[in-house]
Amino acid sequence: MHAYDVVVVGGGPAGMMAAGRAAERGRRVVLLEKNLTLGKKLLLTGGGRCNVTNRALESRAALATYKDAGKFLAGTFARWSVADTIEFFRVRGMPMKEEAGGRMFPVSDTSTSVLHVLDAYMREVGVEVRTGVEVTRVMCDGTGVVITGAGDIKLHARICVVATGGVSRTDTGSTGDGFRWLAELGHTIIAPHMALVPIALKDAWVRDAAGVVLSSIRLTTYADGVRQKTYSGNMLCTHEGVSGPVILNMSRDVGVLLKQTSDVVMRLDLFPHLDHGALRAVIQNLLVTHGNKKIKNVLDTVVPPAFVAPLLAAVHIDGETYCHSVRSEERTALIHTMKSIPLHVSHLLGEDKAVVSSGGVSLTEVDFKTMQSLIVPQLYLAGDVLNIDRPSGGYSLQLCWTTGHVAGDNC
Ligand SMILES: Cc1cc2nc3c(=O)[nH]c(=O)nc-3n(C[C@H](O)[C@H](O)[C@H](O)COP(=O)(O)OP(=O)(O)OC[C@H]3O[C@@H](n4cnc5c(N)ncnc54)[C@H](O)[C@@H]3O)c2cc1C
Repeated sequence: MHAYDVVVVGGGPAGMMAAGRAAERGRRVVLLEKNLTLGKKLLLTGGGRCNVTNRALESRAALATYKDAGKFLAGTFARWSVADTIEFFRVRGMPMKEEAGGRMFPVSDTSTSVLHVLDAYMREVGVEVRTGVEVTRVMCDGTGVVITGAGDIKLHARICVVATGGVSRTDTGSTGDGFRWLAELGHTIIAPHMALVPIALKDAWVRDAAGVVLSSIRLTTYADGVRQKTYSGNMLCTHEGVSGPVILNMSRDVGVLLKQTSDVVMRLDLFPHLDHGALRAVIQNLLVTHGNKKIKNVLDTVVPPAFVAPLLAAVHIDGETYCHSVRSEERTALIHTMKSIPLHVSHLLGEDKAVVSSGGVSLTEVDFKTMQSLIVPQLYLAGDVLNIDRPSGGYSLQLCWTTGHVAGDNC
């Protein structure tokens, strides 16, 4: 007889959910985590507030957000939905609140609350948690799995749930170890590539705006001067360039353009809700009301202060000019630029800054009703180890809750 029914490798959100659910069903479960603590990446999520899930995913049609993977996930989400996630955390003392775009956060505004719930859940149902244990190999024999780890660890079990994550933010422990064992055991691993990364800019002036959040802006990409796609959302200026939801979500497309040319520009419309005529009226009114003030001291009432000097420089208006002296053609140029500020892309920020990496086990090799591997029946897979592209906004963690719970429910 095996010492354990189930060994879960990886103490991230997917592994903790899978381990808890399997033990709740009476399985003898051990969870192995190579870090000394659980959920290192989970604690970083949502800037430390953890965007736990997204209400938009309550509609079946919204599964298309996961692009090609959407068609695989309908059955999985039917078994563990967004509503199940919200209820799971609510009954364990962690209510959530909804923010823009359906994003759900703990009312406590801290990711520690999420980790506490999972930790308590695993303790309550009797999961044996072993931290500081690095698994080096997973092998299968006729009856089950053999898990070897650093320090002469050798465990025999009936089932292994692989929840070792992807290869983003390797400092949190997600170093792609699982991909190696899964490949050895015959799985197809789609090469990981970075998705949801910040974008570095050539424009040095943006550094002065570091920390500025621009809400509901629009960005249009151009490659070699040819218009590509338009994206809307919130953007954050950083010391190296730009980040925030809209940037993370468009980063993959920008990466594709950068493979074709080094001339990639994102044109920023600070006022997508106003057409040129309406913005002209706003600016006219501003200049007339403050006719005797210098334009550099007035423009910051409508754009972030760090944007004033570069905007004026771009349209060759001297900041010392009094508002009443700004000429009609200068106003036109200013308005045009406020709706189309060029941001010159340098490169995507790398693996260390990646929020999620796509790539992982090919979805055709997994039974999504159970999360069992179709290649090796003793293996179940959950979380980032799967090749699923997802936007930011709670979609990644919901995948962990869903695939983790379904794996734990079936293993
Ligand atoms: C900065 C940042 C912010 C994010 N914010 C959000 C957000 O707000 N909302 C959202 O939905 N998603 C967010 N994500 C994505 C989300 O964190 C991941 O999708 C999620 O953590 C994946 O969970 P996982 O359990 O699959 O893997 P991971 O969280 O990567 O956990 C895998 C675990 O396996 C362990 N492990 C790996 N190899 C071994 C081994 N050989 N032996 C033992 N243990 C091993 C690792 O140490 C790690 O603890 C964010 C990601 C980052 C980097």
